[in-house]
Amino acid sequence: AVPLVIAVSTSLAARSGFLIRDRSAFERAKEITAVVFDKTGTLTEGRAGVTDVLTFDGTAEDDVIRTAAAVEAHSEHPIARGIVRSAEERKLALASVEGFRAIPGVGVEGAVGGRTVRVVGPGYIAERGIGAGDGRAESLQQQGKTVVFLLEDDRLTGALALADIIRPESGEAIRRLKEMGVRCMMLTGDNRDVAAWVAGELGLDEFFAGVLPHEKAEKIREVQQRYRVAMVGDGINDAPALVEADLGIAIGAGTDVAVESADIVLVKSDPRDVAAVVDLSKKTYRKMV
Ligand code: ADP
Ligand code: MG
Repeated sequence: AVPLVIAVSTSLAARSGFLIRDRSAFERAKEITAVVFDKTGTLTEGRAGVTDVLTFDGTAEDDVIRTAAAVEAHSEHPIARGIVRSAEERKLALASVEGFRAIPGVGVEGAVGGRTVRVVGPGYIAERGIGAGDGRAESLQQQGKTVVFLLEDDRLTGALALADIIRPESGEAIRRLKEMGVRCMMLTGDNRDVAAWVAGELGLDEFFAGVLPHEKAEKIREVQQRYRVAMVGDGINDAPALVEADLGIAIGAGTDVAVESADIVLVKSDPRDVAAVVDLSKKTYRKMV
């Protein structure tokens, strides 16, 4: 995505691993008092793999994966890619899908062989009172795994747990920012238990879970009541929040939409470079006054 950037970076910034797209925003970076990170693809690598398959009503594991993957094959979401990869690993042939629809922050749906198939997050089934009721999904979420549910004609037939990897640099990125007196937060559409697990691993000061894509920018405005805020994200769903924040920072390997909505781009996709941005802004603009 980087070639799309109209780079106006100084050589120093480039050497530090970031591109400046908006110079006045870079100047404001010295005043940042809080950083809000997106979770998936920003603090984590965003390459979730299927670790557990739950079946309900006597459905076979392979059928759960096959049916979910058929619909997810039409989505670009990291969850979708993980499920499709799992079907490929098991050499499962995927049925064709009609009327595919993605619901951002919720899941996907489509018709497979005359049945309405949905793969959705825990919020969707909770709202409709379709619980599994046996605690298996909850216990997986408490281990930091993202669980999505397979509904066939509104009947729960399976669930898939996916584990993402926290970027090895994320812990140090947060330690450095906290040392600089910057408050570190996380914003995610994922479930509260998963978010709590990641926040605990990384020592984040605060987190917001179950935030729908259209609510992300609103959440930034809330945090702006208390702090001067930088938002760091990678996805299409982060773009409005990147624009809303005092400083928008995109992960270089993220979507074009995120990169084009940001003031600064982290070329190496390394969250530690957020501290480098604040640091360089302080050094640059201190000299000038
Ligand atoms: P994040 O804020 O962590 O980047 P998203 O807003 O993209 O997450 O997704 C939030 C939640 O919406 C996911 O954890 C999942 O429950 C559900 N979801 C989104 N896309 C899909 C999909 N393609 N398949 C299943 N569930 C999905
Ligand atoms: Mg993301």
